Amino acid sequence: MSVAVKAVSPQKRLLAVSWPVCYSLTMHDLIIIGGGPAGLAAAAYAAERQLDYLLLSRDLGGKCNYLARPVEMEDPSQVTAKDIVTIYKSKLECLRHSYRLETVTSISHEGGVFSVTTDKGGADQSRAVLVATGAGTRRLDVPGELQYLSRGIGYSACSYSHLFRGKRVFLTGDSDRVLNSTIEMSIQAGSVVLSLPTDNECTRDLLDYVKTLGCVEVITDGVVMEFSGGDYATEVLVSAPDGERRFSADGFFVELETHGNSALLKDVLKFHGAGYVPVDGSGMTAIPGLFAAGDVTDRSCCEHVLAALGQGASAMLCVYRYLRRLAAQSN
Ligand SMILES: Cc1cc2nc3c(=O)[nH]c(=O)nc-3n(C[C@H](O)[C@H](O)[C@H](O)COP(=O)(O)OP(=O)(O)OC[C@H]3O[C@@H](n4cnc5c(N)ncnc54)[C@H](O)[C@@H]3O)c2cc1C
Repeated sequence: MSVAVKAVSPQKRLLAVSWPVCYSLTMHDLIIIGGGPAGLAAAAYAAERQLDYLLLSRDLGGKCNYLARPVEMEDPSQVTAKDIVTIYKSKLECLRHSYRLETVTSISHEGGVFSVTTDKGGADQSRAVLVATGAGTRRLDVPGELQYLSRGIGYSACSYSHLFRGKRVFLTGDSDRVLNSTIEMSIQAGSVVLSLPTDNECTRDLLDYVKTLGCVEVITDGVVMEFSGGDYATEVLVSAPDGERRFSADGFFVELETHGNSALLKDVLKFHGAGYVPVDGSGMTAIPGLFAAGDVTDRSCCEHVLAALGQGASAMLCVYRYLRRLAAQSN
């Protein structure tokens, strides 16, 4: 028998009692996939509950490692969500055995056991899996975009709208994501320019509402050509049906539609939409034992580190309850 359960606590033994004895791979209570805010919070609570968990991730910190803060501005927040993520990250780094920096390539599910495979040939098994792989976005890929990343250009206006009180802001995007950001920004900024491409997927009613906002100028059929400036981006060139126009602003946001990073689930779970994993209120998917949290789920709508931390912690506590129930049933 090669079931690798570290029986260091009565709690761990309680949960481990139900493991089948025929597996040759390393068996855990829980495998967490993704080391961003949601995955790190889940790992912290899994450690607290003394679960035998393994976190597999490409990196620790997720998007918090490269949040595109548009400009260096004094942030009035006393404790930022990034500070909390840094604490969780350093706690996990002390538990070297509990994580591996690997990319998960596939998950399979048979007889109530999940098998998780990674790009480095890792193969681990568990009774529960928590997917916290976040969401991906696209760049415009126009001149100046990379040069001014975090030097005038950001990717999440709603995360930084409070820093642009009374200022002028330019946004571009192709879906309701940018409309919601524009509404949020219009509350804080002095003036806002929104450029939408012809083939946008914006909801008509929401767009009509944005057009009524006094401080917002909407450029429909606009194509962003380039960003320019000195040390920081100060201007954007937009091609519109009535010719090319240059807009100056204090901040520029590229808010193209995002997608859930859920390709690794293709063999276990079928769902529609832009990759966002459907979960119930506990974070569980349609497959018992398969949970998801953070930006990768269809419940994440606020694009905020604090929300992802909360979802990770909450889903983890539901995983714990699920495992306890399993253990009770097998005893
Ligand atoms: C486009 C975008 C921009 C944002 N910008 C900001 C911002 O500027 N400021 C701000 O405060 N908030 C921002 N947010 C919000 C915030 O960053 C996110 O809400 C938060 O990071 C989500 O946490 P998460 O743990 O769900 O995902 P993420 O932080 O994305 O973490 C996902 C983790 O999963 C890992 N991973 C992914 N796939 C695999 C795989 N196959 N195998 C192993 N590991 C994998 C990644 O390496 C990463 O560690 C942004 C959100 C989005 C979508």
